Amino acid sequence: ACQPAEPPLIERRFIALGTIIDISLYGIDAERADPVLAAIERDFHRLHHDWHAWEESRLTTLNTTLQQGKRAPVPAGLAAVLEQARGLNRSSGGLFEPAIGGLMALWGFHGNDLPGKVPEADAIAAWLAERPRMNDLELEGGHARSTNPRLQLDLGAFAKGVAVDRAIDRLRDAGIGNAIVNAGGDLRAIGARERPWRIGIRHPRAPGVLASIETQGDESIFTSGDYERYFEAEGKRYHHIIDPRNGYPARGTASLTVIHSEAAVADAAATALFVAGDAWPQTAADMGIERVMRVRPDGTVELSPAMAERIRFETDIEPEVT
Ligand code: ADP
Ligand code: MG
Ligand code: MG
Repeated sequence: ACQPAEPPLIERRFIALGTIIDISLYGIDAERADPVLAAIERDFHRLHHDWHAWEESRLTTLNTTLQQGKRAPVPAGLAAVLEQARGLNRSSGGLFEPAIGGLMALWGFHGNDLPGKVPEADAIAAWLAERPRMNDLELEGGHARSTNPRLQLDLGAFAKGVAVDRAIDRLRDAGIGNAIVNAGGDLRAIGARERPWRIGIRHPRAPGVLASIETQGDESIFTSGDYERYFEAEGKRYHHIIDPRNGYPARGTASLTVIHSEAAVADAAATALFVAGDAWPQTAADMGIERVMRVRPDGTVELSPAMAERIRFETDIEPEVT
């Protein structure tokens, strides 16, 4: 018997948003996939240029105007993203705080090279005294205004998620139901081929994989880690996920993984729960996140009950289920 050959796996790779984007499609012909993949690649590059936090971009132009106390025009697409960010900021109790740009710049993370030293305590205290928040941003009628001169937007904690959601929307609009959009290890998968997509979660301190998860239907898996961007000073690690309550890199967590349907929500939640430290179960409940893995700097692992059902460890780790 002669069966029609199934179309092969189609893969596309490019660099955007500071990371490698890998798109895999299953069950579709190359001719149909090509225009969609090209559109997705264009989207990623456009978002990279629109939202860059320190190079010339729509976002840095907006920040400059806001800091001058002026009303700034905001295109509809960006306004929608800022509204989504505001909602996630609220549900996270302010731990996901996109108004944190000034503090990121102060720490020296707004540059291509890693900073080498800790900012002056006075400078951090000055930021904290005015502590800008998303609530200081007024959005109305296609315009924005800030009531806080220190407010500086930085979408780094969820831009990747928003971009991944948009890519999935484009694939679905084109009738593609089996795909994975992977942005440097953070991803959203739809469909299940003949077998589920199996995703490895990186070990935060050792090379290789700590655990694996098989996606079910439509799911995003996002991880925030203290190993992505950091420097060491006087034997201490200073990384790029900052606690807006005290102005310093959040302590107590080495990596925090979230499974959720929408990538933007998973991305923002991974950052917020990282910042929450021991209080992550409460923040997860507040944000409607059920599947969480936290790896502490000493290598011990905590799981939410729903995550415990889904994750498999590569080594003999005994996670605590909380
Ligand atoms: P990754 O860089 O691995 O994607 P995250 O998604 O956690 O990790 O994003 C970290 C980035 O988010 C930082 O580089 C900075 O731009 C921004 N950021 C840092 N701390 C916060 C915070 N508390 N709330 C919102 N954004 C943050
Ligand atoms: Mg991220
Ligand atoms: Mg994030």
